[in-house]
Amino acid sequence: MNKVFLIGAGPGAADLLTLRAARILSDQADVVLTDELVSDEVLALLRPRARVLRVGKRGGRASTPQDFIHRLMVRYARRGQVVVRLKGGDPFVFGRGGEEIEALAAAGIDAEIVPGLTAGISVPASIGIPVTHRAHTHGVTLVTGTCGDGSGPDWNALARTGTTLVIYMGLARVLSIVARLIAGGLPPDTPAAAIASGTLPTQRHVVGTLRDLPERIAAEGLTSPAILVVGEVAALARSEACMGAYVAA
Ligand code: SAH
Repeated sequence: MNKVFLIGAGPGAADLLTLRAARILSDQADVVLTDELVSDEVLALLRPRARVLRVGKRGGRASTPQDFIHRLMVRYARRGQVVVRLKGGDPFVFGRGGEEIEALAAAGIDAEIVPGLTAGISVPASIGIPVTHRAHTHGVTLVTGTCGDGSGPDWNALARTGTTLVIYMGLARVLSIVARLIAGGLPPDTPAAAIASGTLPTQRHVVGTLRDLPERIAAEGLTSPAILVVGEVAALARSEACMGAYVAA
């Protein structure tokens, strides 16, 4: 079968996978090219004969070149193996799924997408933050805090959207992001939160204001992966857990 599945593994907890993803992993996958973000709990669902290749790319660490990932997918698919490209969250949200589907199409290989819960929505939810709430905001904007090529979003424009800002890959640059949003006109007392390793047993978070977010993050020692949330809805975070683990009846 000349086909590659691009599968979203969700934010971390294995029981937040879709049923479709779980079935492909446990029944069909021969070769799995996985990101660092995919939790061991998810990889444990694979059938034992599946071959796992870790091709992760995490800020600051050596990463597998994207071209090489494309070549691996094509090579195994041409051998007739069921190839899964497994990614944290959703494959099409800051996941390079768009590039991979183009590379597969150029090689004449079909791709099938299996969406996943993106971290920017599910991780805030895990502490009770609704990314939209009609009493507080008209929408949500998902942006990256770090672009590989050194460019970045227009923070001045983002400061004026009136939407909740959900920032992926922003932890390392939080000081400059906060400064730019305030310079762009966002009030320093705008509620803000940061959540690290959301939905995993190691989850930690802080809630405060835009102004004090960097020092809260530093004081709590939050590390990547983390999502930043800026906007009134961040004040709705709850102190008790809002997302339990699934327990079979
Ligand atoms: N495709 C993924 C995003 C990949 S970019 C998705 O849809 O969720 C990697 C970034 O996602 C991380 O730097 C972090 O900002 C965010 N992220 C992914 N998993 C996370 C988690 N469990 N907790 C907090 N942030 C997470």
